Amino acid sequence: MPEGDTIFRTATALRRWLGGRRITTARSGVPGLDASRLVGRSVDTVETRGKHLLIRLSGGLSVHTHMRMTGSWHVYPAGEPWRKPVRQARLVLAAGERVAVCFNAPTVELLGARDERSHPSLRRLGPDVVAPEAPDPVEVRRRARIRAAASPTIAELLLDQQMVSGIGNVYRSECLFLCGLHPATAVAELRDDQLDDLVATASRLMRVNARATSAPSRSFGPSSDDRGLPSAGRTWVYRRNGRPCRRCGSPVRRGLLGPQARAVYWCPVCQAARAPAAPGAMPGPAGQVGAELEVRTATTADAATASGIVCGPTASCSARRSTTAAPPS
Ligand SMILES: [Zn+2]
Repeated sequence: MPEGDTIFRTATALRRWLGGRRITTARSGVPGLDASRLVGRSVDTVETRGKHLLIRLSGGLSVHTHMRMTGSWHVYPAGEPWRKPVRQARLVLAAGERVAVCFNAPTVELLGARDERSHPSLRRLGPDVVAPEAPDPVEVRRRARIRAAASPTIAELLLDQQMVSGIGNVYRSECLFLCGLHPATAVAELRDDQLDDLVATASRLMRVNARATSAPSRSFGPSSDDRGLPSAGRTWVYRRNGRPCRRCGSPVRRGLLGPQARAVYWCPVCQAARAPAAPGAMPGPAGQVGAELEVRTATTADAATASGIVCGPTASCSARRSTTAAPPS
């Protein structure tokens, strides 16, 4: 799933090509979405809130999309063939010399200003880690305490968009490594300074990567501490299970955490748990996540992708590919 920095780069590309232009034609593949409401409106701007993307149109209407695991935005010069089948297009917007196509996104909807304030996801979002100002630590701590029951471990809390918004699977593993915290650390046991450090690290990395204009690869190396990280696009632990930790050489481990069983990666030495490991369980406070543990050796797919971040069919990757057509400016 594309994370906040990727969505931010997609918004940058869309803003470049659609911003200030009038929508001349629009077509919807979403049942109930009346695309004719978009025609004739101009695109005021394109914004992100965490992993949500909002195309702001004149007259107070917005197009809201969320990519989840499958969606992507592409921008093409008018008349050029698309890289995905027409049947996968959920929304097509023609403006100026370009056509923006949203493929396969599970969330594509039109929102008025009032809809947005009462939207079940948008109204609950925590501070955006990609926003120009880093999230306020006091507000983050307050939200973390509220969300601790639903997201009892730090690895789950980092993905909880009601705590802060924008962090996804790659950044949570990388930031936990950079802060030396075991993924199964109980939120209740986390000190304020540890939470502050984690969110500040995520925010710093994601803000830089969101606005980088040169290399498409994301960098996870803070400048003062990146000696073990060969180049941009390399990760410390993400998708490196079974491979040696870039700092200490111990094999990186992989486990599944939370109700959605999302994979998390960590170094058992650099991110040592405070509690001893139970047999067959992810080392961590007793009874938290042992039953959900799955550790495996590196697969062919992991090995093939370990040298760089693979975004899959995501917004930013697709926007970049199409840009010959649409380079983020
Ligand atoms: Zn290590």
